[in-house]
Amino acid sequence: MIIKKEGKEREAKEKDPKKKVKFFRKKKCHFCVDKILVLDYKDVGRLKRHVTERGKIIPRRITGNCAYHQRHLTRAIKRARNVSLLAYKSL
Ligand SMILES: [Zn+2]
Repeated sequence: MIIKKEGKEREAKEKDPKKKVKFFRKKKCHFCVDKILVLDYKDVGRLKRHVTERGKIIPRRITGNCAYHQRHLTRAIKRARNVSLLAYKSL
């Protein structure tokens, strides 16, 4: 079985050497999974997961959020920053 797999990989590489065999997991929107429709800016614990150490908002292509939730998330984060629940930037 293992030998068969290796053989297949080698074949794929021979066909197109530039193409690498990549494995990835389908990203899911955390808010859709939890069925949260309205994002609360006071929910700092949840918002913090979508912000880097430096205080930047993590893009959708990395977190896997859907467009709707990313839009509402940025608004919530900006509101939280304004009332100093989250930092604009931190060292
Ligand atoms: Zn979503």
